[in-house]
Amino acid sequence: MHNDTIAAIATPPGVGGVGIIRVSGSDAFEVVLPLLKRPGSSTALPSSHKLTYGQIIDPQSSEVLDEVLVAFMHAPHTYTREHVVEIQGHGGPLVLQRILRAVLARGARLANPGEFTMRAFLNGRLDLAQAEAVMDLIESETEAGQRLAMQQLRGRLSDQVQQARHATLSVIARIEASIDFPEDDIPTPQAEELNPLIDEALRQVELLLAGSDQGRLYRQGLRTAIIGRPNVGKSSLLNAFLRTERAIVTAIAGTTRDTVEEAVNLRGIPLHLIDTAGITPTEDPVEAIGVQRSRAAAESADVMLLVFDSSEALTEQDRLVSTEAQAMGFGVPSSTLSSDEQVATHQRPVLLVLNKSDQEQRIDRAELEQLWPHATFISTSTFSDAGLQQLEDALADVVLAGRMLHSESVLVTSTRHQEALRRTMENLRAAGRSLEQRVPLDFVSIDLRTAYDALGEVTGETASDDLLDKIFSEFCIGK
Ligand code: GDP
Ligand code: ZN
Repeated sequence: MHNDTIAAIATPPGVGGVGIIRVSGSDAFEVVLPLLKRPGSSTALPSSHKLTYGQIIDPQSSEVLDEVLVAFMHAPHTYTREHVVEIQGHGGPLVLQRILRAVLARGARLANPGEFTMRAFLNGRLDLAQAEAVMDLIESETEAGQRLAMQQLRGRLSDQVQQARHATLSVIARIEASIDFPEDDIPTPQAEELNPLIDEALRQVELLLAGSDQGRLYRQGLRTAIIGRPNVGKSSLLNAFLRTERAIVTAIAGTTRDTVEEAVNLRGIPLHLIDTAGITPTEDPVEAIGVQRSRAAAESADVMLLVFDSSEALTEQDRLVSTEAQAMGFGVPSSTLSSDEQVATHQRPVLLVLNKSDQEQRIDRAELEQLWPHATFISTSTFSDAGLQQLEDALADVVLAGRMLHSESVLVTSTRHQEALRRTMENLRAAGRSLEQRVPLDFVSIDLRTAYDALGEVTGETASDDLLDKIFSEFCIGK
């Protein structure tokens, strides 16, 4: 059974006005009630979903641990669908720890990461995609990301997946009925009859997949490496971005000695800008480490801003950096490749930034255009902020390719869902082909089953215990 009683601090670590301890399970009321001393010394269970004022008393020492408001909430109208108690105390780490210890001493068990949400899932309050949306909602970096997570939490994605699942099941049912009862009156279904049903499921799945690369961007953000030889203005460019971009979303800690990462909000997409030390041939071992890290940042980036100093002629180092970037797969025009091809060939977009436009221009533009025949060029000055808006527009163009996010959009935002939907698509297509080729129906049915199960992985019906453990262990404790 999943309803032993669990407890955890649900508010973030640190000091706050209020801190909450959450308790869930069959014995949640019995665990907490004896710890609570109320005015008039009532011991009856307070009414459900109402706040009750009182003190939490340490049962051993009779010491008053805190002054609290407590909500006793009856199953099933709770987050986990079990009995839930929430104790609101003062938000100090020690106070909350001591209340939690008293609760655990009464027989509750410390909750695992994500265990409250896992129970909500196991008890049927949320499906798996919705449970995942809880975490996306907490972690969203932009309003657009938050809106998408909310749509998913409300079940909009699950609805579409379920539609495709039902369509697939109806085909399976027809095929299997004719296989199981051949001598009865059930006629063998014909391809002409089954194909439209498979197509309907396929259309749903393809629609979801079509938006999934964009959806993942809103959730995961975009790694944008600022690359170039030393002194062209890479760090100044990053700072200019941070200065002009009002909606800074987060300051990312992963600041190593040689690369700095900051996030800004690019039309709803968390843009993770990585400033690098610069790529240059060097004998100096310390400098070599920086160059190596710059290369690694470039290798892992989704987009590259390749920066040149336009007040100087092109140098051998500039040419070298260009060659390296192309060898990494940057610079093929993205519009000529489908996203699958881009993944397969590792082709990624590059924007060429001609910085220091406030100075006399000495760079050989013709040679650069020969080096980079498909790239977009943008002149910038980090001194006057000239060109920064164009750079942002160009980035948005490259990234979104003209697609806009509507507030009612339902987009697949997770790699896991995308991967399951791809498998669904492949198996539905295989089933369609087999039908055309008059392959025996039990083989068609195998492909359809695989597609049906893959769809179930999104919503959780066919997710393995290992997968569930993996997903929920990424949650924080108390959620
Ligand atoms: P990085 O080594 O590529 O990161 O280059 P920095 O950002 O450290 O800049 C190198 C030098 O170029 C500094 O002296 C900056 O003040 C200067 N610089 C950066 N951007 C501009 C610009 O747009 N115009 C001019 N005139 N100088 C710039
Ligand atoms: Zn720098």
